[in-house]
Amino acid sequence: MGKFNGETSLNTNIKPCFICGGTHFTKFTNQYNQCTNCGHETLDSYCEQGFILNDPLTLEDAKRTTGLDAFKSRVLMQFNSPSDMNILFDIGSASGKFLFLNQNKYRHAIGLEITPEALEFSRNTLHLNIEENIEDVPTGITTVTAWHSLEHIPDDALINIIKTVSKKMSADSRMIVSVPNGASRQYKWFRSAFAYFDTPNHLHQFTESSLTILMSKCGLEPVAFIDSWPYNTFGYIQGLLNITTRTHNYLYYRLKRRSLKPSMALDVLHLFILPLLAPVGWFLAILDLFDRKKQGVITACFKVKYT
Ligand SMILES: [Zn+2]
Repeated sequence: MGKFNGETSLNTNIKPCFICGGTHFTKFTNQYNQCTNCGHETLDSYCEQGFILNDPLTLEDAKRTTGLDAFKSRVLMQFNSPSDMNILFDIGSASGKFLFLNQNKYRHAIGLEITPEALEFSRNTLHLNIEENIEDVPTGITTVTAWHSLEHIPDDALINIIKTVSKKMSADSRMIVSVPNGASRQYKWFRSAFAYFDTPNHLHQFTESSLTILMSKCGLEPVAFIDSWPYNTFGYIQGLLNITTRTHNYLYYRLKRRSLKPSMALDVLHLFILPLLAPVGWFLAILDLFDRKKQGVITACFKVKYT
């Protein structure tokens, strides 16, 4: 397998790639070490889980279905098992919005989360069943989802969670995973201005190859890789804005996380350049439909391996 995005080849003393065991790394951006075998990137130094809350914690927001929520529900319905709708299990359930919007399709909906504010909101306001420890999740899971959560989990915990979940999945169950793509055209072009570049919160950056190897180690094999249209389009537009305005994800924070203090100057700047850059982003995202491995986000479905 060829090198991923690398510029300089390093032979360092850092520990082997926890995904493929590779011992050669390159630096594409300063913050990550990139395995030359599987392309997986791990933060240069980290010791604890990083997390962020993307959704405002209000009932009104939880009930509002955005284009991205519709995409997630569509993927869920595409890969669920129609014969058995027992347990929907969401790894990194955050505000609980995804479970809240899709819980009625299953007999049970369970989340896994550790962020205190998210636990409080999803349990007490949305009345969801959220566990903090993977061991407490029951067997008989029909569908597992992980929407942009795996990149926040340290390597040992990540392997433990996926391995444990795979043993709790029923025979024809499915796991749907969505993570930023470290082998994407967007990352190659925008580097640290990549819309999904989020240090120190993102401990990893996956590639299709590294995600597949990780899942295989944990007893799962791919069923399908899916076009990540809304994520990819947003990524291009936000990346272009980041380069042009020399800020990082201002539009995203402004729209999604209302805690951000707005800047009048940046608001006006965005008002003028967004209409110019948005069509460019759409066009680039359309081009990526012909080369899925280069899309800004990997969305994939896995099933339990039988040997
Ligand atoms: Zn590797």
